[in-house]
Amino acid sequence: MELAQIKGVGPKMLSSLHELNIYTIEDLLTDFPYRYDIFEPITLNSEYNGERIAINVQVETTPTIAYIRKNFNKLQFRCLHNNQTMYAVIFNRAFLKQHITINKIITLIGKYSSKNNTFVCDDIKLTPITNKQIIPIYHISKNVKNNDLRKIISSALDDATAQKKYIPESLIEKYNLPAKKQAFRMIHNPYNYDEIKRASLFFKYEELFLFMFKVTYMKKENANIYKEEKNFNDCDINNFIKTLPFSLTTSQEEALALILTDLKSNKKMNRLVLGDVGSGKTIISFIAMYANFLSGYQSVLMAPTEVLARQHYESALNYFKDFKVKIGLLVGNQTKKEKEQVLDDLLNGNIDILIGTHAIIEENVKFYRLGLVITDEQHRFGVKQREMLKSKGEVPDALYMSATPIPRSYALTLYGDLDVSFLTNKPQGRKEIITKVKKYSELKEVLTHILNEIKNGHQVYVVASLIDDNEELDLKSVETLKEKFNLAFQNKIPIEILHGKLKAPEKEKIMERFKNNETKILISTTVIEVGVDVKNATVMVIFDANRFGLATLHQLRGRVGRNSFDSYCYLICDETTERLKVLEESNDGFYISEKDLELRGEGDLFGIRQSGVKTFKIANLKTDAKILMQAKSDSEEYINSKEYKNNLSYSQIIRELDRLN
Ligand code: ADP
Ligand code: MG
Repeated sequence: MELAQIKGVGPKMLSSLHELNIYTIEDLLTDFPYRYDIFEPITLNSEYNGERIAINVQVETTPTIAYIRKNFNKLQFRCLHNNQTMYAVIFNRAFLKQHITINKIITLIGKYSSKNNTFVCDDIKLTPITNKQIIPIYHISKNVKNNDLRKIISSALDDATAQKKYIPESLIEKYNLPAKKQAFRMIHNPYNYDEIKRASLFFKYEELFLFMFKVTYMKKENANIYKEEKNFNDCDINNFIKTLPFSLTTSQEEALALILTDLKSNKKMNRLVLGDVGSGKTIISFIAMYANFLSGYQSVLMAPTEVLARQHYESALNYFKDFKVKIGLLVGNQTKKEKEQVLDDLLNGNIDILIGTHAIIEENVKFYRLGLVITDEQHRFGVKQREMLKSKGEVPDALYMSATPIPRSYALTLYGDLDVSFLTNKPQGRKEIITKVKKYSELKEVLTHILNEIKNGHQVYVVASLIDDNEELDLKSVETLKEKFNLAFQNKIPIEILHGKLKAPEKEKIMERFKNNETKILISTTVIEVGVDVKNATVMVIFDANRFGLATLHQLRGRVGRNSFDSYCYLICDETTERLKVLEESNDGFYISEKDLELRGEGDLFGIRQSGVKTFKIANLKTDAKILMQAKSDSEEYINSKEYKNNLSYSQIIRELDRLN
């Protein structure tokens, strides 16, 4: 069945569901509740003062509505509960007025305060709850309310299109899991708490098993891909390394040695270099590309943004200026003539190393002899983009680089299909970034410091979490921040705004002006997170810091501290959280990711394997670590089993499931 065929899904609802990323019945049914409200109406007594409860009342007066300010109103009425008269209030539900009629019995959900004999509701059920009720709560939008989702999902529960069996029969039996159809019913319409537990275990296991199966599957595939061995002389590599203005760290040396061995081997390289911001991944990729060049092949390095690609291009020109390596750049923002020249040179073998953005994966980009593909900040790219890049060569070696520090054990499981090298130590002479958590009321102090840094010729990054103001969440958006800063600095300091909704050329120009020190303060959303290198910036201010994961904050912070000056990071946030203190204490990305995991569950692990879309819908990598490990060993067993060999459709299923990568 199609989504549009479900009862209650008209064209309008359909497009609203699309906005929630729900396109199929499977999407709908796997849109799991993120929590449940469990209600059992009680009889009020003093014990419940201030606690969130549900009570049944009889309405005694017609509600009155007070309009307090724009978008804010209060509905109030008197009611009777267990012979006690009290007042009930609820905010922003003026539309309920007509339904709350005298003598009607309704259920109030919220908190009672004996001080003013008032029940402050966060919800009112017009059909009173009589028994214990478990109500699933979904992520909703302006046009799709919780009730809509509940109704639509109920009508779709029995549909066969969403019942594809992903867990092999033997494992269903082994763990005594419910049938999938039953699991859907139990998670969306549970009769008791036990059902929720059983059903979520089913879907968590299904998700993690599929994920781990795919990893296992790819590992097996990768192990059998052969290529021509690459031939180069280690002396030549060492001669290049000698020209660098620094000596490599031991981590860099170890990773490099493995990469060079991979290149020389007849098995295809599939290596991930995981290293904190500033750990020096770029130079490793350059040396690998040099070795590949010496073997007579072309290399390509793909970066997620044009700013970053250009930056790599400039450094490559510089590093290779005394060597015979020809370097090309391909980005979206080039003239047609420039592009054509690059494409020509590529095809004729006049370019040895190509650096660029995803412009590189376009069809008309053809190589003469591609031997090595490298993706920088690989978590920023989707699977398809990486696959397309690889398809440009016969069997090119593949190197991935990522600055997402995650604990070792997780990295080895989640990236089990790749060989992983960790860059654990940082280049010498790096200064720690002095990090402080500040309250909004202490902003003046921060502003004074910013002004001082600017007076000393330095620059400042400011990060906000949203583009537009959102009254409800009270987050400081970039626009508001700009106004505030301009006010504070009396318009005397050049400030610019950068965010994801701007067009690429516009972004480039803004970055260019910041790089050239024309702009002193750059206010942005998290778009600057990725590898940007402006050495002159010494302060990073992050508003509503508690909204971000520690790993993200750490990466943002890594934009400063790229020189010998003292650098600072201010985390602005009114709640003091344990989490943010971790950043005050440490500058070590791997340590921070361990802590994040400890304190917040999955931390920033969500979405690590994929750009944009969250990887897991229900599984939580930290709290479900046991299931993950079990899924790992189960998938390894299954792939070698007769059951799998007899089940030809299974690998087909896996291939379809791109979303799990
Ligand atoms: P990331 O790992 O975040 O991509 P980069 O490769 O951009 O880090 O390196 C950050 C800076 O450190 C660059 O300016 C680079 O030249 C420098 N660098 C890299 N390796 C070393 C080293 N072994 N010693 C000193 N500086 C280094
Ligand atoms: Mg980098």
